[in-house]
Amino acid sequence: MKKGEGVYNVVVIGAGTAGLVTAAGTAGLGGRVALIERNLMGGDCLNFGCVPSKALISSARLIQQIRDAEKWGLDRQEPQFAFEKIFDRMRACRAKIAPNDSQERFESLGVDVFRGEARFVSPHEVEIYDPPSPQSSQSSAQSRSRGGREAPGEGRRLRAKNFVIATGSRAAIPKIEGIGTVPYFTNETIFDELKQKPESMIVLGGGPIGCELAQTFRRFGVDVTIVQRGDQLLPREDRDVAEFLERRLINEGVRIIKNADARSVAISDARKVALEFLDRQSGPLAERTLFADALLIAIGRTPNFRRLDLKSAEVDVNESGVCVNDYLQTSQRHIYAAGDVIGPFLFTHMADAQARVIVRNILVPFQFLRQKTDYSVVPWCTYTDPEVAHVGLGEKEAKQKNVDYDLFVVPLEDLDRAVVESEDAGFVKVLTAKGSDKILGAAMVGPHAGDLLHELVLAMKAGIGLGMIASTIHAYPTFAELAHKAGDKYNKTRFTPRAKKIFTWLYEHARR
Ligand SMILES: Cc1cc2nc3c(=O)[nH]c(=O)nc-3n(C[C@H](O)[C@H](O)[C@H](O)COP(=O)(O)OP(=O)(O)OC[C@H]3O[C@@H](n4cnc5c(N)ncnc54)[C@H](O)[C@@H]3O)c2cc1C
Repeated sequence: MKKGEGVYNVVVIGAGTAGLVTAAGTAGLGGRVALIERNLMGGDCLNFGCVPSKALISSARLIQQIRDAEKWGLDRQEPQFAFEKIFDRMRACRAKIAPNDSQERFESLGVDVFRGEARFVSPHEVEIYDPPSPQSSQSSAQSRSRGGREAPGEGRRLRAKNFVIATGSRAAIPKIEGIGTVPYFTNETIFDELKQKPESMIVLGGGPIGCELAQTFRRFGVDVTIVQRGDQLLPREDRDVAEFLERRLINEGVRIIKNADARSVAISDARKVALEFLDRQSGPLAERTLFADALLIAIGRTPNFRRLDLKSAEVDVNESGVCVNDYLQTSQRHIYAAGDVIGPFLFTHMADAQARVIVRNILVPFQFLRQKTDYSVVPWCTYTDPEVAHVGLGEKEAKQKNVDYDLFVVPLEDLDRAVVESEDAGFVKVLTAKGSDKILGAAMVGPHAGDLLHELVLAMKAGIGLGMIASTIHAYPTFAELAHKAGDKYNKTRFTPRAKKIFTWLYEHARR
């Protein structure tokens, strides 16, 4: 059947992670799939999110290591680098990954790709029309992925048995006075439109994106101030975890202002961005103004659904996004949604996991055979240095939910490998169900924490306890011994005075 004609099994709206995984999965199983993208193939993760941020973080880490050369017994030295070259490298990394998400690749998988903006005209039909003017921020790879694109939409309509809304999210912009009158960056512009190093930068928001980019720009030599509304960076983490990172950022020269309510922005006489905020830390009426060359907004995310005309499809939404049930169906059972547009976890791996559930649920004809989403074991990581990784319950959440737990903490300095690598700042904390070795959650702060966490993630998923991790041989000296040492700590709690008495008697008996 000709592209666009007849009825598709699935029409997917949005070619970010959620959309791409749904489209590839369904096409791979033999389904007829259309994929509609209004901007760049690959969505946020490839173009404006994970990939460019992690590429810059990688350069920033090396810069910092060179600055810290004396830690490894080298002479003190200043890193030599050009801001523009680091950004070129980031774009080259992105271009290397881009073909995986390209229109060509998806067409080769049998997916009909349409470039344009989709909106529902009924619960069973979408229309594709001209997207807003393309982002000025396109790398060569991205431009390439647009190569051979269809003439956008022109009101072309597609019909399908099922639809998947995978339209993602965008940076939330605070509704403060003057915001429309000053230049500012978000994740959609910072990687491609920041042409030279600013002397100073205000990062509005101290969540994962704000912290990652604040540290990165500081390491590039920018005078960075984080302005955070709450009293803690990384609000989802336990306070000790967040404070550990905060100390590190401060040591590197990042200025952090917490309990601050942004009030207004303007351009100062010296052509700087002037951010006025209420400093609740210093008193109820303390108004202060910060000046910087650049403003980066990272206060949170807004789901993209307003332009989809979901009323025509009779799909329910609320402020946090498109409403779905456990099977990821919207209020119209044949219309599914996944990724940032539904939450509750705004991560690439979550978008991927939800898309996999949808692929299966669309194929299965009966509701009782469909799979529910399982959010019981969801890891995440903030890629600051040190990395901050998390899975399951933290102490804060356990207390809120009245869950009794035991806590096992291992500092990184207990790890020989960390010491010889001069990377011994950090710790792991593991929560287990009170009196047992069942892992409820863990937080890791340290180099490679996002990778190391997965031993505990798998253990949680498979129902493996800390005792079993302790009895598993771990290679020495590795960072992976961290989980092993937490297991040893658990085992020690089982060595009660009564058990010691029995062992002492056995030893005495053996000597007779
Ligand atoms: C700076 C930054 C760093 C991040 N780092 C990480 C990280 O390290 N690890 C991690 O797991 N997550 C990270 N994330 C989050 C991650 O990028 C998102 O969770 C992920 O991209 C969500 O995928 P998605 O498919 O739901 O949405 P998106 O990737 O946003 O894709 C949605 C797509 O839908 C398109 N679209 C929207 N509306 C329409 C329409 N009407 N018609 C057609 N197309 C439409 C959009 O153009 C977009 O391409 C980061 C995010 C940011 C901003």
